[in-house]
Amino acid sequence: MPMFQKNSDIFNILAEGISEGIIVVNTKQIIVATNTSAEQLFGYEKDELIGKSLNVIIPTRYHSQHTSHVSNFIDKGKKRRMGQGMDLNGLRKNGEEFPVEAGLNPFKIYGDTYVLALVTDITERKNYTLKLEQTVQERTKQLTEALIKEKELNELKTRFLSLVSHEFKTPLSGILTSITLLSKYTKTEQQEKRDKHIATIKSKVRQLNTILSDFLSVERLDSGKVNYNIEKFALSKLINEVIYDANMLLKTEQHIQYPDNIDEVQITFDEKILGLALSNLINNAIKYSPEQTTIKIIFRREAEYIYLEVIDQGIGIPKSQQKHIFDRYFRAENALLSQGTGIGLNIAKQHLENLGASLYFESEENVGSTFTIRIPKNQETKR
Ligand code: ADP
Repeated sequence: MPMFQKNSDIFNILAEGISEGIIVVNTKQIIVATNTSAEQLFGYEKDELIGKSLNVIIPTRYHSQHTSHVSNFIDKGKKRRMGQGMDLNGLRKNGEEFPVEAGLNPFKIYGDTYVLALVTDITERKNYTLKLEQTVQERTKQLTEALIKEKELNELKTRFLSLVSHEFKTPLSGILTSITLLSKYTKTEQQEKRDKHIATIKSKVRQLNTILSDFLSVERLDSGKVNYNIEKFALSKLINEVIYDANMLLKTEQHIQYPDNIDEVQITFDEKILGLALSNLINNAIKYSPEQTTIKIIFRREAEYIYLEVIDQGIGIPKSQQKHIFDRYFRAENALLSQGTGIGLNIAKQHLENLGASLYFESEENVGSTFTIRIPKNQETKR
């Protein structure tokens, strides 16, 4: 290696000033010169690499491939970079591998060909890139989720608006008709007719109010803004109130049968929520049953639970659609002729479950449905 001996001082000064590792090999791929950075990088003592095959700093699995590459490359005699866009590893004396990038510079001196390789440890750069990739992936995921949420929210808003407009139209036009007719009954003796229309208006306004409360409940449930209020109350009082309101909705010769065993019953629960759930069940029973039918309300006690059942002789729920009945906005095919939003049962069930109670049903199409509220008895000792 004549040139390295001759100019070794200059080589050393230049080489030691460079932070990259320098490895010079001859055409037989024997290492003929290194700098300190290269020795440190690969874990060797000073000059320990000199005279060794290039293969000692290359993982075994690359050997055959690499050797042919190098000879090929030396023949062409052009500069190039290695390790960019692919995974290139260096091998330390202790067997460790690490990612490298190498710039190869072939040169000729005194008739001999050599290759000077500038080797950089890119472990950190790689880690950084990996981290960056991870961060980008995470951010992309978050953004995608946010987008999906936004889209769902928009769909929900659209759905809400069309539901509200649709649900409001019918009662509002009913109210308008009644008001128009009211203005025509000007004579004193027409009070009975006026009363009839006033009752219609009242009931339609109540209907609108229920729809709005349902939507508000959904909003409150979803945003977690519900406060429950557990207290002891007389079941008969609540049932009287609920049935009183429901009576106004009854169709011709529809009857509600009171439970006959609740006079002394006290319940510890959220009274409003139980009222909401019961009204919903009874209103549905009325809405989805024909004229001349009876709606039964049954109260039962067992060891651990009390049960409230609302039984109707109505249109029932088709078997295939029963599993969706508590889904928000779901309405069975046979129910579409009646007004509704598909919200009531969903809300009632969610509230009841939040309070440790449950809501379920049995139903047969064209025979009738039984909806059951089940409240655990230990509610009293728990709270
Ligand atoms: P809405 O009555 O406003 O549509 P609900 O959430 O109260 O919404 O009920 C959801 C659906 O469950 C109804 O659309 C109807 O298909 C079905 N359903 C509820 N109660 C009954 C019932 N008593 N008889 C038959 N179908 C019922």
